[in-house]
Amino acid sequence: METTQHATYTCAFCGKDSVKRTAVGIWKCKGCRKVIAGGAWTVSTPAASAVRSTVRRLRDLLEQ
Ligand SMILES: [Zn+2]
Repeated sequence: METTQHATYTCAFCGKDSVKRTAVGIWKCKGCRKVIAGGAWTVSTPAASAVRSTVRRLRDLLEQ
């Protein structure tokens, strides 16, 4: 886990690898300056990915 503490993550909003953890559970993207509430050590929690797939499903439905 410690090796991933300072890693950057891909931003779900702008797609850049510029998301960094600023506090426990708080992630900030340098690209689009969005602040993301995520897991303590990784940006996506199982709950967060469930929300993302739900959003994607809804978006697919809307575009039909
Ligand atoms: Zn971004």
